[in-house]
Amino acid sequence: MNWYQISELEALQSYEVTTSGLSSQRAKETLEKNGENVLVEGKRKNAFQMFLSQFADLLVIILIVAAIISMISGNIESTIVIFAVIIMNAILGTVQHIKAQKSLDSLKSLSSPGAKVIRDGQKVEIDSRHVVEGDILMLEAGDLVVADGRIIHNYSLQVNESSLTGESTNVEKEEGAILGEAPLADRKNMVFSGSLVTYGRAMVLVTATGMNTEIGKIASLMNSAKERKTPLQRSLDKFSSRLALIIMLICAVVFGLSLWQNSKNGFSADVILNSLMYAVALAVAAIPEALGSIVTIVQAMGTQKMAKENAVIKDLKAVESLGCVSVICSDKTGTLTQNKMTVQRIYVDGETITEAGLDISKWLHRILIYDMVLNNDSSIVDGRGIGDPTEYALIECTRHIDLDENIIRDTIARMDELAFDSDRKMMSTKYMIHGVPHVLTKGALDSILERCVSIADGDSVRPITPEDKDRILKKNMEFSEQGLRVLTFAYKESGEELTVENEKDFIFIGLVSMMDPPREESRQAVADAFRAGIKPIMITGDHKITASAIAKQIGIMNDGDLAVTGLELDAMSDEELDKIIDRISVYARVSPENKIRIVEAWQKKGNIVSMTGDGVNDAPALKKADIGVAMGITGTEVSKDAASMILQDDDFATIIKAVANGRNVYRNIKNSILYLLSGNMAAIFTVLFASFAALPVPFMPVHLLFINLLTDSLPALAIGMERPEKGLLDQKPRDPKQGILTRDFTMLMFGQGALIAVSVITAFLLGLKINAETASTMAFATLTLSRLFHGFNCRSKSSILKIGLFSNIYSVGAFLAGLVLLFSVLLIPALYGLFSVVALEPAQYGLIAALAFAPTLIIQIIKAIADAVRK
Ligand code: ATP
Repeated sequence: MNWYQISELEALQSYEVTTSGLSSQRAKETLEKNGENVLVEGKRKNAFQMFLSQFADLLVIILIVAAIISMISGNIESTIVIFAVIIMNAILGTVQHIKAQKSLDSLKSLSSPGAKVIRDGQKVEIDSRHVVEGDILMLEAGDLVVADGRIIHNYSLQVNESSLTGESTNVEKEEGAILGEAPLADRKNMVFSGSLVTYGRAMVLVTATGMNTEIGKIASLMNSAKERKTPLQRSLDKFSSRLALIIMLICAVVFGLSLWQNSKNGFSADVILNSLMYAVALAVAAIPEALGSIVTIVQAMGTQKMAKENAVIKDLKAVESLGCVSVICSDKTGTLTQNKMTVQRIYVDGETITEAGLDISKWLHRILIYDMVLNNDSSIVDGRGIGDPTEYALIECTRHIDLDENIIRDTIARMDELAFDSDRKMMSTKYMIHGVPHVLTKGALDSILERCVSIADGDSVRPITPEDKDRILKKNMEFSEQGLRVLTFAYKESGEELTVENEKDFIFIGLVSMMDPPREESRQAVADAFRAGIKPIMITGDHKITASAIAKQIGIMNDGDLAVTGLELDAMSDEELDKIIDRISVYARVSPENKIRIVEAWQKKGNIVSMTGDGVNDAPALKKADIGVAMGITGTEVSKDAASMILQDDDFATIIKAVANGRNVYRNIKNSILYLLSGNMAAIFTVLFASFAALPVPFMPVHLLFINLLTDSLPALAIGMERPEKGLLDQKPRDPKQGILTRDFTMLMFGQGALIAVSVITAFLLGLKINAETASTMAFATLTLSRLFHGFNCRSKSSILKIGLFSNIYSVGAFLAGLVLLFSVLLIPALYGLFSVVALEPAQYGLIAALAFAPTLIIQIIKAIADAVRK
């Protein structure tokens, strides 16, 4: 059946519903029958496919080759262990992958859009996943259409269907059946899932959900299993493949070298195998098996933590970009301020009064009160404001004159309306008042004053003079300088149709000023931003003077800073803007287009820009910004859809917290990598040394796998859980172009690796005085233990004395767990064969402990000195 070809009534009848909506019982049954209203994204790999894909890695292939060589050399135990390890690693990788996916899914459900439906006769807001066929969906500007539906009642609805049709202009919708066949774009009485409501309202009967929607049908065609990786993951992938190549190269050299040394007494199969074992040991030592999973886990844990702190990340890439943010553009109202408006002073009839001075017996006051109460879409229920805080502040202020807005609204019905939008910065409605049609309007002074031709003066109306305008502008300035938000009220008697073109020829009534105090935490958050080398910028639709006053209170605007209006910005060339952009800290009366220009101008200078937004028109700027931030409470679904992060509490301070978390995640990942790679370096240096010195192979593959996979992965994870340090916001933002492997990082990796290697080689040489097995066991034990100690070194740049041994309890736990594992291998004779170790003397244990602790002692002393110097 084609829903667009039948009438509204027939459509409702075929679902046996009325405009009072479904009963919750029936909705529940339909949901169970049809499933959730979600698009199934690409065919995801199942667990087995994911398991198999873990083997498609050059490093794993090198390991497999190593296992085969071990087998040929008769070392069956090693072969079994290597294979067991490869399989275990693949299982771990799969499990972690599924876990990370789940954690992303849970974030997705946190950011899943809401939908307003009528159930059991009541308008309720539900999760869009629970919308079912037959539901009555209420749409208004800013909403995301979450299902396909037939329009039942249309109030000038306009939608953007570009996600479906590619056509970016708005489509006006209508009621009424369409005769004959119509292509998708011409089905004017239907709305489609994935479109954005840009204007008006509508009541819609849901006719398809989930994969049955038009977008679902395309999505199922487009379904691809492509996985998107973050820049960090990609750069690590690149690093891994480069590493694999270098490993193979060095292995070949070492193989050749050892072959040359061993062949002095002639070639034999034994000689070749022995040389091969060197190459194998080296390969196993160098491959950081746990690296990939650790990055994934640390990122997933980071996003969970941010979600708990009210910043829901929708795109993993954002976690990394957050650490590089250098400019944060933030809305004023509700983000930097509390969005708790209270009317302060009213300018009417040439006098400045407080709300107590409002006198309903005066004609001019009465028309102002009508404008405040009728030209207003909010309400106060049980003392709680519903709707726009600017608007319910107006109702609040009429309370003391014993006025019930509901009674006025019931007796005087609205005939027409032009809703508020942030481009026009005004709102108008039409009413029949005492038998005369009136257009009531309110909005920003700059929008309304130029549309006024007359002024209400006492009991009469006269043409407005330049002197009147001067007086009004002065009053506006006086209010604005105190950080008050000013609304202008005007009206006209007119029977004309209400259109944007006709919003003119008004009679000026007066000004109402209201206060919206800054959020308490804003000041501190702004100070934190400056300290962190981030420029905070206020972007607002409010008046320049009001905005500047608030910006000064919060600390965003300092001496020498500029405030610029949208109009002034429009008049500036790109070059002019470039010159002064560093000094502009407030943009007032901006349009959504201005926001895009501001983002682009900063990005051009190499900055990573975060931009907040809440309206439908903000979506392009949110997409353009490196981190688009939407408001969880006041934001439209469209803005949430376009953003990469959602602030559940609309609070500016949450952005700064998220930046700190982003920096911390990156730092932790970097430290984990340093830990893993410097440990591997120690093993590589030892093998290389033994090879050059023509000594026996110091490690069996099983030793290195034991370390890389078991004892090393725990501290690496613990480093990933390190809490943010105090100094995290004292540094400049990271350069986004800079990779992980900077010169400093590489030096540390080699330096720390070399220190550990010295200890391990010493243990090996001492062991060699007894025999090769003891030497190998001692080298293995020293390497394991020193790497366990090294876990504490990599937690931070600072010494453990400064950060405290127990400030990361996971790290202590990981150390103890590692110890238990190591001593199980060394002390349980049944495991000796499997792990190629022999029993040691107590004195040798003492030696191992001392040698293993030495590198950490040295590193900690260096860190302590560096701490003292930094102080
Ligand atoms: P921000 O962009 O920081 O959230 P804002 O909330 O002040 O700032 P807008 O909501 O775009 O920005 O408001 C811009 C101007 O429009 C306000 O300064 C006010 O004069 C006017 N205005 C705001 N709300 C209404 C409303 N409901 N009806 C009429 N005019 C309004």
